[in-house]
Amino acid sequence: MTSSAAAVAPGLVLARDVSKTFGSRKALDGVSISVASGEMVALIGPSGSGKSTLLRSITGLQSIDPGKGTISVFGETVQKDGRVTGAVRQARGKLGMIFQQFNLVGRLSLFSNVMLGALGRLPAWQGLLGLWPQADKDRAMAALHRVGVSDYAGQRANTLSGGQQQRGAIARAIVQGAKAILADEPVASLDPVSARKVMELLVELNRRDGMGVIVTLHQVDYAIRYCDRVIALQGGKIVYDGPATGLDQQRLIDIYGPEFEDAF
Ligand code: ADP
Ligand code: MG
Repeated sequence: MTSSAAAVAPGLVLARDVSKTFGSRKALDGVSISVASGEMVALIGPSGSGKSTLLRSITGLQSIDPGKGTISVFGETVQKDGRVTGAVRQARGKLGMIFQQFNLVGRLSLFSNVMLGALGRLPAWQGLLGLWPQADKDRAMAALHRVGVSDYAGQRANTLSGGQQQRGAIARAIVQGAKAILADEPVASLDPVSARKVMELLVELNRRDGMGVIVTLHQVDYAIRYCDRVIALQGGKIVYDGPATGLDQQRLIDIYGPEFEDAF
């Protein structure tokens, strides 16, 4: 590596030639993406196109096919030779992960769930005994305040609405000190008003805090409205990677065919 290359801050994700096969099905087929650290990127595509598989591969929740595929996150190689590497732990510390469901521990309070974001910075016994430093507690309350659910801090997570839970998951990522958020269909089970709030929060974290965001969406209009860049998948292959503004109705029809709205 030349010294000038070494001086460049590593991006959020660099994935090269990633494939993932389940049985005879290629969920990902030679996917390469490069996402800079402060980008807000939507991954779109019909059900089964490989969006979740790509996110799970980036977070090291599953290994990719052996071969030449590699994935690095903030400069750490997390996937190589068909194996998730030990560096994944460090990489995950920088990633706040949000899923469609099961984001929070239902029987714990919202506050405790958000405190779990600080667990990585504490000796485990201290966290398990609930001996949180006051500074962490203050950070947790501030984060809950920021995402607009501080009134529910003491409430059990499973008594909250889907939108409140998602906002709690975002607060947890803030407390974690995440440098980026990877969200898999974070708004798919939400009503339009809650969905909009969650998307707006992600945009705010991106714009104000410089957090990278990679979010899978099956609503194309959300991708176009809230994200800068769109990566579109079909059958495990990238069929579009470019600015969200370039992705109008006609372009989507060119990519996916006239029935694309039914396929999503
Ligand atoms: P998307 O998130 O875009 O809906 P997925 O990444 O979940 O798509 O799935 C891509 C393809 O891989 C689908 O055909 C799906 O059935 C398959 N697949 C995903 N995960 C598994 C798994 N754990 N076992 C078997 N097949 C899987
Ligand atoms: Mg999915």
